[in-house]
Amino acid sequence: MAPKVVSPFEEFIPWAIRPLAKRLLRSSKKTKATTNNTTTRESFLSNPFLKFFSPSTTTKENSSFNLNVTKEFYKFSKLEDISVEYLLLICKDFTPYELISLAGTCKRLRELLMSDDASVQSIWRNSRLQHMRYLQLPPPYLLTEQEYIGLTMMERGCQFCGKRKNWVRVYWRYQVRSCYECYKPRFVSGKAPQNKNSTPETTTYLADLKNREAADRKQLRVTISQRKKRLTDILHELESETIEEDGCENLRLFKYDPKLLRQCPSYNAEWRLYDQPFTNGDESKLRKLMENEYRVLVEKLYYQSQESQELQESQ
Ligand SMILES: [Zn+2]
Repeated sequence: MAPKVVSPFEEFIPWAIRPLAKRLLRSSKKTKATTNNTTTRESFLSNPFLKFFSPSTTTKENSSFNLNVTKEFYKFSKLEDISVEYLLLICKDFTPYELISLAGTCKRLRELLMSDDASVQSIWRNSRLQHMRYLQLPPPYLLTEQEYIGLTMMERGCQFCGKRKNWVRVYWRYQVRSCYECYKPRFVSGKAPQNKNSTPETTTYLADLKNREAADRKQLRVTISQRKKRLTDILHELESETIEEDGCENLRLFKYDPKLLRQCPSYNAEWRLYDQPFTNGDESKLRKLMENEYRVLVEKLYYQSQESQELQESQ
């Protein structure tokens, strides 16, 4: 029998902290695809975060696992003293959304992560190139990486009315994210400038706009199909939910009636927003709303049946 292959992850990381370690030690998708087992082990051992997770006994036993050389680099007593170099390492594989959450944790991190410093820009650029498939073009003229990424976050809604609704899109010419109702009076009238920075509209400029719009259309197709899939999945999941009742252990009792579920107003409202992203927050909100609405629908049905019964009896 062949010996069981133990991954470096299993070898060095205690079981209990694996979920946390996985998050910090996660290697980028590109490395995963191109490396074989041995190099994975090497690259794994070179990861500075291993120090935080691996028990000290392992450090002594394993000579190849020596991080003392670079020890000084990781020295900081407070989070506020964190260096950009360190941050670069921590954020290596973070999504832009994770970077934004990280920037929201404290003032110091916010200052660091929101700066237009070249190394910080590279953190965001890496993240964007890794995780935003249809945002591969460099930022438009005079926009930082953060502004560029923020501009394309459709789930933030229209920049003018703040609403999340159909046909909110990025108008690259003016570098705004807007619904058409807000866009029209501001930019379509004769008074509006030709574009954001009054850039001469050369062929290169126009080609750049066209490329961005083409990438947006690709993203839109993905967004539409993702929303469709997640809404369908939620419904199927709710439909298959069962309840247990005493004395009915052998019966499969479904919690929801499929027909009634589909009548929930919030569910239908989400379908109508078909071209807008559907976030995790949207999902938990929808689930709560649907539960309440479903209860109301059941009550309504119950009273209706009682009324018709009374009507029949009185006749
Ligand atoms: Zn608007």
